[in-house]
Amino acid sequence: MKWSFFPFIGILMAHVLVAHAQAPPSLHQVLTPGPASGPVRNVILMIGDGMGLTQITAGMYAGGNRSVLEQFQTIGLHKPYSQSHLVTDSAAGATAFSCGIKTYNHAIGVDRDTLPCKSLLEDVRDLGFATGMITTSTLVHATPAAFVANNAHRANYEAIAVDFADFGLDYYVGGGLRYFRNRDSDDRDLLAEMEARGHIIATYFSEDFAQVHPDTAFPFGFFTAYEDPLTAESGRDYLAMATTRGLEFLANRSAKGFFAMIEGAQIDWGGHANNGPYLITEMQDFEEAIAAALAFTRHNPGTLLLVTADHEAGGCAIQPESTWEELKFGFTTTGHTGTLIPVFAYGAGAELFSGIYENTAIYGKIRALMGW
Ligand code: MG
Ligand code: ZN
Repeated sequence: MKWSFFPFIGILMAHVLVAHAQAPPSLHQVLTPGPASGPVRNVILMIGDGMGLTQITAGMYAGGNRSVLEQFQTIGLHKPYSQSHLVTDSAAGATAFSCGIKTYNHAIGVDRDTLPCKSLLEDVRDLGFATGMITTSTLVHATPAAFVANNAHRANYEAIAVDFADFGLDYYVGGGLRYFRNRDSDDRDLLAEMEARGHIIATYFSEDFAQVHPDTAFPFGFFTAYEDPLTAESGRDYLAMATTRGLEFLANRSAKGFFAMIEGAQIDWGGHANNGPYLITEMQDFEEAIAAALAFTRHNPGTLLLVTADHEAGGCAIQPESTWEELKFGFTTTGHTGTLIPVFAYGAGAELFSGIYENTAIYGKIRALMGW
């Protein structure tokens, strides 16, 4: 099967008058949780960066009209706008999930005044839960960063790496080795510092991820790339494996439970590139990871699995000339768009995620389900 795309379909931009400079208050600003379906021990938050409904549809149609998302019990929609912009970036989008606040685009775990916020991941770590992070971007990129770092700007990768190292995750897999050693801003070797604190860390230089079987007695990290990991199209294939192994690792790491953030980061990059085949192959890679997480969730009662996105990217639409053999895409932008974003929920507490709510409400719902 092949795909083609038309990079710049002419789109008439209608200028709609907006009555409010600030976002009007939402009906669901205040969280009102319904009866929870039993205690939630484990939370798996999967973020398909830039994954709007078109991206999901494209992955489904290109995959034989099937998606593992069809097996989810509850579907909702979140409003992805940020505090500073109607169209969010990934930093503000992830901070909405991690801290439950609307902040400005580029903000990493800080509020509109650049004051640090305490993330869900930090809270559960302090309560004795295991914490995990898996991404197909660098580990210091905006989405993972907002869960473990506090920085006024997403581009401060080396400072974010210091926060990452200090955080003490139990399991982490992703790229960006260069921000941890061979740093420009100082001579610190953050890998050595983490190893001195008991972490077992491997890298793509010396080991094949498939051959590494970490001991759950120690925190484990694997760096998959010096900078950005490869695209799925050019052979990157660790996301589903890291998900299966990571969830088992985390379940054995703490008797209390765990919180894992798993990101399909490059769906967004396919959108920015206005590249249909890129976003389809990244969707299919993410889909395999979702299937792995769903299998874990089915076998481990008390687990909540959420799949959502921070925003759509590309203004992507499946064009009228499309066929089942060949999807044709149109794009309205090389940036992000402001459309509502789906939330798919499965497992313990899933019913709490139906309806339409702010992106920040996801934070509150998770907190309520975990009992604090
Ligand atoms: Mg991202
Ligand atoms: Zn983006």
